[in-house]
Amino acid sequence: MWRRHPWLAWSEIPRRESKQLSYQPVRSLALNPRTALQCRAVLLFDIDGVIRDVGGSYRRAIVETVHHYSGLRPEPAAIDALKAEGCWNNDWHASLELLRRAGLGGAGGPPLPPFEALVAVFNGFYFGGDPEGDPAAWRGFIGSEPLLVERAFFEALSAASIAWGFVSGAEPPSARFVLRQRLGLSDPPMIAMGEAPDKPDPTGFLRLAADLIGMPLGPDAVPVAYLGDTVADVLTVKRARERLPQQRFLSLAVAPPHLQAPDAAERRAAYEAQLLQAGADRVIPETARVLEALETALAL
Ligand SMILES: [Mg+2]
Repeated sequence: MWRRHPWLAWSEIPRRESKQLSYQPVRSLALNPRTALQCRAVLLFDIDGVIRDVGGSYRRAIVETVHHYSGLRPEPAAIDALKAEGCWNNDWHASLELLRRAGLGGAGGPPLPPFEALVAVFNGFYFGGDPEGDPAAWRGFIGSEPLLVERAFFEALSAASIAWGFVSGAEPPSARFVLRQRLGLSDPPMIAMGEAPDKPDPTGFLRLAADLIGMPLGPDAVPVAYLGDTVADVLTVKRARERLPQQRFLSLAVAPPHLQAPDAAERRAAYEAQLLQAGADRVIPETARVLEALETALAL
């Protein structure tokens, strides 16, 4: 039987959740992400750009936060270029870095805002309300995040004996909101911001994978795959491999939705080339096609 481990640091979360989410549907037996020893593989997901389109939410919050302090709105390509560096997974740090590159904090220029103040401005745009409060009261960009998959997608994974879960750099209230309230997953295995070191550190990824398999990773464990949309996600798998060379890992990658538009074909090709260059084993056309890519890889 799967048990929560103390190092998941979830000790405070259930109390808040039980108040907010008590009306959630009970998970059906068909949708059990923890298939323990019977699973053929573990598939972990990044959330932003993979499970939900954050072009109009997190990415827009970066743009508006930078504009708030500098009067400039960075182009999507500038955010992509920053993300391609592999170390700007945290959108607060990414916003601050864009401000630094716009000249704030330099000699004779305007100062950089204090980090805490920037976080408050960013969260005002993104949540538009208390992140720890009732999601029904949120008025920010989080309210307009198209989903890239539906609940049936996870039912298909479970039916194929694939254990699944989420490793995300999003704040826990935001990750819980999309998984539980939007997708109707009642108890999703998840590691979010602050529950493990930021990606590309693989600690959280490795911890959740071992937890889902129910045994230590290594030569006897089933393959562990990760689907992400940034270089940091690919590097997370690469570093996991360095830590556990005998465990089989698979790095799957997908271009984020804003690059999937027909008029973005050229930028998408360059972006996908960066993912492969960083070490992705396979780039897939969209999240919904991940099971077929995983089946192909498992058959090899
Ligand atoms: Mg992402």
